[in-house]
Amino acid sequence: MLIGVPKEILAEEKRVAATPETVKKFITLGFEVAVQSSAGEGVLISDDDYKNAGAKIVADPEKLFAESDLILKVKQPEFNQTIGKHEADMLRDGGMIITFLHPASPDNHDMIRRLRDKRITSFTMDGIPRISRAQRMDALSSMSTVTGYKSVIMAANQMQTFIPMIGTAIGTIKPARFLIIGTGVVGLQAIATAKRLGGIVKALDIRKNACTEAESLGAKTVEFDIPQESAVAEGGYAKFLENEWLEKERKVIAEHIKEADVVILSALVPGEVAPILVTEAMVGTMKPGSVIIDVSVDQGGNCEITEHGRFVQKLNVNICGIQNIPGRVATHASWLYANNIYYYVENLFKKGIGQLDLTDEIVANSLVTHESRIHYKGALKAMGTNS
Ligand code: NAD
Repeated sequence: MLIGVPKEILAEEKRVAATPETVKKFITLGFEVAVQSSAGEGVLISDDDYKNAGAKIVADPEKLFAESDLILKVKQPEFNQTIGKHEADMLRDGGMIITFLHPASPDNHDMIRRLRDKRITSFTMDGIPRISRAQRMDALSSMSTVTGYKSVIMAANQMQTFIPMIGTAIGTIKPARFLIIGTGVVGLQAIATAKRLGGIVKALDIRKNACTEAESLGAKTVEFDIPQESAVAEGGYAKFLENEWLEKERKVIAEHIKEADVVILSALVPGEVAPILVTEAMVGTMKPGSVIIDVSVDQGGNCEITEHGRFVQKLNVNICGIQNIPGRVATHASWLYANNIYYYVENLFKKGIGQLDLTDEIVANSLVTHESRIHYKGALKAMGTNS
């Protein structure tokens, strides 16, 4: 069975879905591997590195897609401008693909239908359930770790002030103040990074457990007294708040945002658009030169005036709506992702190469299309269809 690893085509995407280390592991399992030439260029892995690991190098992406039984990618299939064809159409009929498909997102519905109509068996890395057996495959957590770290570094880079307290002959420079909203995996890593840089960190989450974790990393939690039955759904994940509570939360944030030098926004509710927690009026009260990194931008963003894909200055505040933050730490992001996907494939074919185990909980939860049907619940709901 041939695994194909194409070069990513999304603008500025440097990550790659396999490294020479994982190529060797796939070959040990009994797969053959083909890698598109220069697929590892963005992370300084050469074609020779892949060849030495046992992969075949293929120059033509159309040939790679057409010949591979299973394609491994980082980002969802996109239209390839150079070739003039959509990657979904380049997959061979009845073939397989594993990547981040974000199937519920309306932007991807047309692509999901193409996969269904071509009888592709597709799996999405963002559908892997958070059970302990799946931890090594949890690419969402891996990429969130990278995002949390890099969001603080990007803010630091944009600031014209120091983060740590610095004593000088002229006087003492005060440390920067961070406000981190949403303390899931992204927020916690942002707290840890801001603390390492010497910042003073406040954090806010609607789940008490998340607040406790933030405090254990040295953040001071912002008081927001919301009954947990209004904030936490079954399974421990956040609920989308009723308007009345969102309004109260915005009032609390408005009190703290005025004194922040950096605001990291990472408040998300699984399967929903991101709640707006920072309005334009609130941005207007922030210090000139302060920075907002709106990590939730892929789900719409937590700030009302974030511009998707852009770093802009509005009301004297720098607002970052850059998507694909993990691609900016491409080497470690690729190392993590390539290993996550390796463990996913190992589990997928645990009954033997070529024998899919669709009853496995991890596989069933991440299956998107199979035998001309859409199986992913979030996508079916968002598309208003049952197949
Ligand atoms: P996420 O990306 O879905 O959401 C980020 C955070 O936003 C969450 O903490 C959520 O409570 C918060 N949030 C939602 N609405 C908010 C609002 N209105 N105001 C403020 N905050 C709001 O979350 P995630 O990073 O995927 O992690 C969610 C939880 O799952 C975490 O507690 C994490 O530790 C846990 N987790 C478990 C595993 C595992 O068991 N394998 C793996 C990863 C994460």
